[in-house]
Amino acid sequence: MVAGTSHGSPSKLDQLNPGSGPAERLRRAHGLLVAAYGQQWWWPAQTPFEVILGAYLTQNTAWRAVERSLENLRDAGALSLSGLRSISIEQLQELIRPSGFATRKARALKAFVSMVDGEFSGSLEALAAVPTSDLRARLLKLPGVGPETADAMLLYALGHAVPMADEYLRRIVERHRLLNPAPSRNRRGYEALVELTAQAFSSDPAQDRAKLFNEFHALTVAVGKAHCGRTARCAGCPLAPDLELAGAASDHPATGP
Ligand code: SF4
Repeated sequence: MVAGTSHGSPSKLDQLNPGSGPAERLRRAHGLLVAAYGQQWWWPAQTPFEVILGAYLTQNTAWRAVERSLENLRDAGALSLSGLRSISIEQLQELIRPSGFATRKARALKAFVSMVDGEFSGSLEALAAVPTSDLRARLLKLPGVGPETADAMLLYALGHAVPMADEYLRRIVERHRLLNPAPSRNRRGYEALVELTAQAFSSDPAQDRAKLFNEFHALTVAVGKAHCGRTARCAGCPLAPDLELAGAASDHPATGP
């Protein structure tokens, strides 16, 4: 899946920049983003459980709407595992209505609470203690949990060093031609993006990786919002030097919704 390797011959980029593969370029991109935007200190939540709630509620919804739902839950005393356990699914639907898809999301949140209660004695710490690959597999079996939501929970709430990806990273990787074929908006594309990100940070000390993955995701969101949205605004973008290297600017000015 990595550009320049899938067809057994060097990519145009590799010819331009021998010895600098996609993973190395992505690691360098992280450095460019840190230099441009500084430390991000993400995720915008106060407790691990709030992060988990946010990971569910933010699906297909802007964060502003999630904040209104979280505020409703806080006012109702339901911004905790015990709080969520104690309210009915109908009350929950009403409280999270601002972030949309309330019926589906309420059912998914209740299923999460049932899993923690039934399999981990109601303890998020016990849940977090499960080895990463087993825990990821368990989370992915929950209703309403795809890989992006599972990885957000693992990384930002449960302290596991996993990379995560989103549409902003997908656009960057596609426009900079880091993967061949370009990652699509499906599970396969998502897994290719996290694999590339894991490779990019594989030479960093293991104890630093959770923080690096955390920051890298936050930084790709920052550059995505500022420059790499549905239309690429490459002028002044911190990643423009890498795009020039790839020689892709004129070919990929913008992609997709
Ligand atoms: S705006 Fe242009 S230079 Fe910046 S990340 Fe997107 S494609 Fe790359």
